[in-house]
Amino acid sequence: MGENKVALVTGASRGIGRACAIELAKAGYDVAISFAGNEEAANKTIADLKALNVNAKAYKFDVANKEACSNAVEEVLKDFGKVDVLVNNAGITRDGLFMRMSAENWEAVINTNLNSAFYMTNPVIKTMVKQRSGCIVNMSSISGLMGNAGQANYSTAKAGLVGFTKSLAKELGSRNIRVNAIAPGFIQTDMTKDLDTEKITEHIPLKRLGQPEDIAKTVKFLAEDAPYITGQVIGVDGGLVI
Ligand code: NAP
Repeated sequence: MGENKVALVTGASRGIGRACAIELAKAGYDVAISFAGNEEAANKTIADLKALNVNAKAYKFDVANKEACSNAVEEVLKDFGKVDVLVNNAGITRDGLFMRMSAENWEAVINTNLNSAFYMTNPVIKTMVKQRSGCIVNMSSISGLMGNAGQANYSTAKAGLVGFTKSLAKELGSRNIRVNAIAPGFIQTDMTKDLDTEKITEHIPLKRLGQPEDIAKTVKFLAEDAPYITGQVIGVDGGLVI
């Protein structure tokens, strides 16, 4: 076990999570990443993390499964000794108009985007309370703040993360554990690859889609340079929600 601080980032084989893992590694963190099934992407991220001279390991499990999450956190603690920063990032969309939305698509999105935060944070918090420090970042979304037609399931999950963030911040502040959320706008990842980006860009004051690194820099800021910020939802959206 090294001297470095340790970050655990869920859904970090690709997209925003991957960028967060790399940004934290650049800041000297050892990084545990999780992924669902894309071994190739996870291996690539691990190789890129190791090239930054930090300790890195990938854990394959479903964040929608409570037992899998607690087992994985146990493994991470065995391998890394502690968790200083937890980024609850893994997420999916199953978009569709509510009138036609199946219970299956509702539950999959709530379980993967919202219940996962409970399943991951619950075991991690115990070690953070013991060490009397910690930083948790929950990946919400502008959809959770504004609502979005066709995303009743996703918006509900992302809004739930906002309440979770604020309540935990109040509960855990006295233990020096900070809990914040980020509400990304449209970020260029696999999740948004089928959207009509030209039309969306018209509505963004900064006139571009976000890059995963835009979110990653905010995560690093919250972890490293924000000792008096807790319970906040930080919009990183090019000005889309003002
Ligand atoms: P992405 O490119 O689709 O990547 C999703 C990541 O989550 C992958 O690493 C994937 O692993 C993992 N994952 C998915 N389901 C999982 C499960 N059940 N268990 C464990 N890991 C799982 O997504 P992204 O765009 O980076 O989004 C990351 C987060 O930001 C999500 O919570 C998303 O809702 C949020 N967000 C994104 C945007 C955007 O515009 N992209 C905007 C607002 C909020 P595999 O590679 O193994 O599949």
